Amino acid sequence: MTRALARPTIFDRRQLMLMLWILLSAGFIAISLIGYFVSKQAIRETIIAQDLPLTSSNIYSEIQRDLIRPILISMTMAHDTFVRDWVLRGEKTLPDMARFLKEVKERHGAFSSFFVSEKSGIYYTGEGVLKRVSSFEPRDAWYYRVRGLAEDYEINIDPDLANADALTIFINYRVFDYAGNYIGATGIGLTVDAVHRLIKEYQERYKRKIYFVDLRGHIVEFGHKKKQTLDLHTVPSLGPQIDRIISDRRGSYQYEIDGDNHILHVNYLPELKWLLFVEQNEAVALAAVRQTLYTNLAISLVVTLIVIILIQFAFNRYQWQLEEMASTDKLTGLLNRHAFTILIEKLLAEYRRAPRPISMLMVDIDHFKRINDEHGHQIGDDVLTIIARRLESGLRESDLAVRWGGEEFLLALKGCDRDEALRIAENLRESIGALPIEIKGKTLNLTISIGVSEFNGSESPDQTVDRADTALYKAKNTGRNRVESA
Ligand code: GH3
Ligand code: MG
Ligand code: MG
Repeated sequence: MTRALARPTIFDRRQLMLMLWILLSAGFIAISLIGYFVSKQAIRETIIAQDLPLTSSNIYSEIQRDLIRPILISMTMAHDTFVRDWVLRGEKTLPDMARFLKEVKERHGAFSSFFVSEKSGIYYTGEGVLKRVSSFEPRDAWYYRVRGLAEDYEINIDPDLANADALTIFINYRVFDYAGNYIGATGIGLTVDAVHRLIKEYQERYKRKIYFVDLRGHIVEFGHKKKQTLDLHTVPSLGPQIDRIISDRRGSYQYEIDGDNHILHVNYLPELKWLLFVEQNEAVALAAVRQTLYTNLAISLVVTLIVIILIQFAFNRYQWQLEEMASTDKLTGLLNRHAFTILIEKLLAEYRRAPRPISMLMVDIDHFKRINDEHGHQIGDDVLTIIARRLESGLRESDLAVRWGGEEFLLALKGCDRDEALRIAENLRESIGALPIEIKGKTLNLTISIGVSEFNGSESPDQTVDRADTALYKAKNTGRNRVESA
C-alpha cells in the first residue's frame, strides 16, 4: 500500500536545521574562542610577569656567582706578599713568578693567569715572560686603562681572546706595594661555562632567545671570533624601541617578527655593562593552547553534527507518526479521505507522465445498519475492520484502499482498466458474500455492492469517484450484492 505522502510542511525544515546548525556552531565556536583568548591573555601575562623575569634573574644570579669567584682569586693574587716582595726585590727570579702564576692557574682551572709589572712593563704568565706591554699596542690598551682605574679592579670580556664555545672573562686587579704605590696589575682569565650552559638550556627548553646587548645597542658576540656584531637598531619593529630600552635598562617590551608577537624582558648587568635580553616568541608558547582550540573546534563540530542528526532522526519519527495519524483511519487502518486526495494527485501526475488506466471501486456493505441494530456497535466496528482487511488483501502494493465513509470503501486500482476492475470487483463481492464472518461465536452473512468507474484521462478525480458512486447507487437500487459500472 502506498503510504508515501507528500509531507505537510508547517515550517521549512531545511531552514530550521540550518538555523540550528548555525546556532550550535556559533555557540561552540564562541565558547572555544573565548577560552582561547582567555588562555592566551593569561599565558601572555605569565610570560611578562613571571617566566621571563625569572629566567632573567636566574641567569643574572648565575653570572654574578660566576664572577665573584674569579674576582676573589684575583684579589688574593693582588694582595699576595710574594708578588709584592718579588716586585720590590727587582723581579729577579723569573721561575718563581712563573711557578706562582702557573699554580694559581692550575688550582682554579683558569684559562690564563698573569702579572704585568708597572716598573718593567713585562707581561708575566705561567709559562714565563710573555712580552712587554706598550702603550702603542692596541691589544695592550687594557693595561693602561686598568692603571688609571678609580676602582680596585675591572671585569673585561675580550671576544677576541675567548676560546671556542665559552664566555671568557678577565679580572684585572690593581696591585700596590706596602706604601700604597701602584706596582702593576694581576688576575686570571676564566671561562664561564655555567652561564653558557644555563643560557643554552633555557633556549632549548623554553624556546627562548637569550642574548647580551651592549650599551651601544649591539649584540655581544662571544663564543666565536666574529668581529661584526649586529646593531639592534637595524632590526625591524625592535629597532625603534632600542634607545628607549637602553635608557630604561629594565622592563618588558613587545615587538613583531613575521607576524609573530615577541615578548622581551630586559635586565641590566652593571658588572658587565650589558643588557640581558630574554625573549619569547608568543606563538611558540601558545602552540599547546592553539592545539586545544583546534581540538575543541573539532569536538564542537562532531557534537553539532551528532545533535543535528539526532534531531533530524527524532523529527522524522515524529513527523512519520503525525503523518500516519493524519492519513490513516483509526478503526480500519486504511487511508482516510484526506490521504486519498493527496495520493490520488500523485497517481494522476504519474498518469500524465505515462498514461496507464486507473479504475475506482466504490464499495458499500449491504444492510449494515442491521448489523449494528442486531449485534451492537462494537460488533459493527469489528465487521468494518474485517471487511477492510479482506478488501485490502485483494489489492496490490500500488493500489489505494480508503475508508470513504461509515461502511463505504473506495479502492483505486493502478494500471487497471474498467474490464479488469469489474473482474476484481466481482471477485471481491463473491468472496465476501461466500465467506461468513465469525465474531464472538456469531456467524454473520454479509454482502457488498460495488460501483466501478475508470478515469477517463481528462476529468477530475472527484468526477471519477462520483461516477463510481452513481454506479454503486445503481447496484443498490437493482437489488444489492451486485457490481455495476459507470
Ligand atoms: P444499504 O444496503 O442501503 O447500504 O443499507 P445500510 O444499512 O448499509 O445503509 P445506511 O447508510 O442506511 O446505514 C449505514 C450505517 O452504518 C449507519 C451507521 O450507523 C453505520 N455506521 C457508520 N459508521 C459506522 C461505524 O464506524 N461503526 C459502526 N458500528 N457503524 C457505523
Ligand atoms: Mg450500506
Ligand atoms: Mg452506506
